[in-house]
Amino acid sequence: MKTQTLRRADQKCLYCGGTGYYQLLLGGTETCAHCGGTGKQPAEKTED
Ligand SMILES: [Zn+2]
Repeated sequence: MKTQTLRRADQKCLYCGGTGYYQLLLGGTETCAHCGGTGKQPAEKTED
């Protein structure tokens, strides 16, 4: 029996912590460029 792991399923974006945006010190928010606002770790990103 093979066990396939869907790595992208529950991966939160490491940059924004899964929120999809950054909290700015000056106020307001900015969309996370790493995940594009989805809050999920992009599948293309491979661990090194
Ligand atoms: Zn992000």
